[in-house]
Amino acid sequence: MHELPSAGDHSAMPRECPDALNSATETAKANCEYPSTESPAQVLQRYFGYSTFRAHQEDIVRAVLTGRDVLAVMPTGAGKSVCYQVPAMLLPGLTVVVSPLISLMKDQVSALRQNGIPAAFLNSTLSAAARTQVLREARDGACKLLYVAPERLDDPAFRNLAQSTPISLVAVDEAHCVSQWGQDFRPSYTRICGFVDSLPQRPPVCAFTATATARVRDDIREILRLNSPFTVVSSFDRPNLRFETQRPRSKDAALLSICQQHASDCGIVYCSTTKTVEKTCELLQANGVNATRYHAKLSDAERRKNQDDFIFDRSLVMVATTAFGMGIDKSNVSFVVHYNMPMDLESYYQEAGRAGRDGSPATCTLLYSPKDVSTCQFLLEKTILENPDLDVSLRVQLLERGQERIKQMTFYATTTDCLRGFILRYFGERPPALCENCSNCSTQFEEQDVSTEALKIVSCVYRLRERERTVGRTTIADILVGSGSQKMLDAGYDSLSTFGIMRGVSKKRILFVLDRLIEADLLSAQGGQYPMVAANANSARFLKERTSFVIKVPKEPAVKARTAKPAGVGKGAGAATPVPAASQHGDEALFEQLRTLRASLAQQQEVPAYVVFHNTTLQDMALRKPRTREQLLECSGVGEVKANRYGEAFLECIAAWAEDHQ
Ligand code: ADP
Repeated sequence: MHELPSAGDHSAMPRECPDALNSATETAKANCEYPSTESPAQVLQRYFGYSTFRAHQEDIVRAVLTGRDVLAVMPTGAGKSVCYQVPAMLLPGLTVVVSPLISLMKDQVSALRQNGIPAAFLNSTLSAAARTQVLREARDGACKLLYVAPERLDDPAFRNLAQSTPISLVAVDEAHCVSQWGQDFRPSYTRICGFVDSLPQRPPVCAFTATATARVRDDIREILRLNSPFTVVSSFDRPNLRFETQRPRSKDAALLSICQQHASDCGIVYCSTTKTVEKTCELLQANGVNATRYHAKLSDAERRKNQDDFIFDRSLVMVATTAFGMGIDKSNVSFVVHYNMPMDLESYYQEAGRAGRDGSPATCTLLYSPKDVSTCQFLLEKTILENPDLDVSLRVQLLERGQERIKQMTFYATTTDCLRGFILRYFGERPPALCENCSNCSTQFEEQDVSTEALKIVSCVYRLRERERTVGRTTIADILVGSGSQKMLDAGYDSLSTFGIMRGVSKKRILFVLDRLIEADLLSAQGGQYPMVAANANSARFLKERTSFVIKVPKEPAVKARTAKPAGVGKGAGAATPVPAASQHGDEALFEQLRTLRASLAQQQEVPAYVVFHNTTLQDMALRKPRTREQLLECSGVGEVKANRYGEAFLECIAAWAEDHQ
């Protein structure tokens, strides 16, 4: 890891811009007096270079400015940060941002400073001297936004600062971390409320999250003791994302096929374990894919390098555990593949949502196999048992909730209904029945009545229960086909009345129907790496009432249907394979030149490329081809400080290009 520059560190400045502002102190002095007399829209334009607020942003900013608490639930990429960063620049005192993402604070803060916003962070990665300097600057009013990890709220030096320095706003990022109902519960988050209560004057408290069910929302309100908060729950729908699930015979082959379809695009492949990351990255590299890897067992230096390679587009595909990506603001990720099923839909949607942040069409594919379910169960138990902060009753609760979430995730992986609809319903919305932009909506299914097969399978499991036996999936299939193996004879399974009642049916077919029965909760699969199948109350009812059991199977071969090129975004919304947006809106060659310039500026300063300008900004420049500073300021994402800092270099690049293309 690079050492994190303190607010006063000048080393990260571009050499060719002597007037550039980097330290919180200089930025504050040079900009304005606080409170500012500017309007929120002026602040948005001046610092962020955006001419209009996105949906809900302005309402939230206004609520904060009138002193109201806020609870905002908005999906990834909706622009939550602006909702507290704009008020921070308009309010007189300090804004404290509580965030669990220590590893990201540096990038968040450098992005703000690049925009001319005096920001700093305070966490365990800073040296004692750097921490003292940040505290001093905050006390002097030279820092407007201070990012802290929740643990920092108990630190005496920080408490001291909070007592002596006016705090105008407390923003809680990733607020779902307060809730035991969320998938990402952090006990330290529950201390926020005590911290707010200890302040001489209570500032407005704003909570932001991208993942919240109604239950988590209630917890956020209650645990943070929000005071009649202005509440925004925006739709979670991301229409530019196409959702796909596959149950491939070979995940490796399916993944290679996806990477080939996206040969020149950036993508992320998520795996559930370090070992799978290693194996999968090797597989991709051996097949000519420009891939790199990221997981907790790599050295800090290699993790940082690989992440930078991906962010700077030197590596196109990142194979990673879920340790990668929190808050990564790389806007041009065109596909996200989950090689393994995640533990819950919240995580899935958050990770998959790293695709298409710039609004271009992108694909999110889940490669499912039934074994994923037991891996999830194993990981859930491990995480909970290894957390020393949890007492026994909390462990039991968290385990139960985790198991329910795994169940919902499995339903998603195996449903034949609209995938977008499934996700949106999970988050409490009422979507239309079909989205026409997911693999289920674009696959024709036919219904098959498999009642007889289902009855035979369930009664086999039931008979085993009578003998007080629970067995795994393959043993059930062996019994039903009447396998003559020694194992069958030794266990006496050949004397069961169900032995051989499905002779002639392939074991694969039996396992397929068996899995559907588990999904329909007519049988239960329990625990461990190799789950045991057991009868439950529904099984008895099913045997008694003999209701029909109908499953849906794809009409066309699944592989063909599901690996086909995406059919487009929504109804006729254009090409689905993301083409560089510049070619839709501007000149692709110019866009590439601007990208190269951005890469070299980013490299000089050792900041990610997106910190200099987002892709969407370069696309806008390639479209408008500004020739003057004023015209440059009209491009989305160019604020005043960035125009001062980079304007000359980008205007020169555009002018040179225009000369060559007269
Ligand atoms: P979230 O935290 O909700 O995931 P971010 O705050 O990271 O989203 O914003 C996502 C992207 O949208 C960023 O690149 C940000 O600069 C951009 N953005 C935010 N607000 C606006 C706006 N009003 N106009 C254009 N782009 C915006």
